Amino acid sequence: MTSSPAPCLLAANWKMNMDHLKTLDFLRQLSLLLPEERVWKAGVEMAIFPPFTSLRTAQVFSNSYRLPISLGAQDVSPHECGAFTGEVSASMLEKLGCRYVLVGHSESRKNHHETREELVGKVKRSISSSMIPVLCVGEKEKGEEDWEEITSQAGEVFCDLEPEEREKVIVSYEPVWAIGSSMTASPDRISRATLALKGKMQEKFGLCPRILYGGSVNEGNIDSLMGLGLGGFLVGHASLNPAEFATIFQRLAEEGSR
Ligand code: PEP
Repeated sequence: MTSSPAPCLLAANWKMNMDHLKTLDFLRQLSLLLPEERVWKAGVEMAIFPPFTSLRTAQVFSNSYRLPISLGAQDVSPHECGAFTGEVSASMLEKLGCRYVLVGHSESRKNHHETREELVGKVKRSISSSMIPVLCVGEKEKGEEDWEEITSQAGEVFCDLEPEEREKVIVSYEPVWAIGSSMTASPDRISRATLALKGKMQEKFGLCPRILYGGSVNEGNIDSLMGLGLGGFLVGHASLNPAEFATIFQRLAEEGSR
């Protein structure tokens, strides 16, 4: 029996934006902008990654109004529970209905100086709480194309995972220079980077992870980024505007239903 392909994932990384009321307003607008069931069934999964304080709001709204979105957290503690002031555990996120967790976003890597051990711990905790880690990797400089930086970011986490854990990880290719900069990576560059990542993962671990792209994706460039064999997109800035995010979703849904 062949398993059906995973739907394209459109993920919204809201970063430190959208309090409880703004989250409610966004989701209300989204449900009005996308009223047709057909669009939601076209093979694109929408996931919202709000700040921790808005997760419960998004969970209750989407359940009450049957809005078929998935939820994700922007980070997770590598620890199970206990004296870790300010941290949020994987089991707490699981109870809020989270399906995904971002791990190693370039902003967290930079601001929290995350170690390799912590990244591995975050991936493992997410998986043991039945969530899917989205491991972010990306080169800092636009300069010469040298994929060693991104393949080693992925490899140094994958090497400490069990084979069955590796299969659950989604990798998001997010060139740091493209994040929040309006400088999207070109389709050719994305293809070369994702090919290099897949090749290295295949060679070292015998698997080909699902890969997303993130970095200044918006309604004006989404068309040029479709058809690259990506597993989806991680959208920051453009996901804060419900109309723009709905348009990106609709474009992907139209493409998926062709
Ligand atoms: C991100 O932060 O993951 C991101 C992709 O941001 P932006 O779309 O704003 O570049």
